Amino acid sequence: MDENLAVMTPEHPRWSEFYERLSGPEGCDFEEAENVLTTTWRCGGGYDKTYATAILTAMGGIDVPASLAYFEQHGGHCDCEILFNVAPPSDYLDDDDEDEEK
Ligand SMILES: [Zn+2]
Repeated sequence: MDENLAVMTPEHPRWSEFYERLSGPEGCDFEEAENVLTTTWRCGGGYDKTYATAILTAMGGIDVPASLAYFEQHGGHCDCEILFNVAPPSDYLDDDDEDEEK
């Protein structure tokens, strides 16, 4: 365990940066549709976390394997499931979920 590396979780200060990159063109590339049911995105499915791995590696200072393990523990088995099942960044939410840990 390298003490200089951080695990990427929703508590990490750069979580929103990671989340936005994973949902953007270098990640799952979500296409916003008028009807959410027709929204499309890229994902390898299964246990494929290619985009998350690449983005975490590019961000630097992140313990990538530990972060991926955290995502799996929280239902994020593939890139899109990380976005769906691991908490969205607090600025995606309204004021009803103020972050008390800061
Ligand atoms: Zn997926």
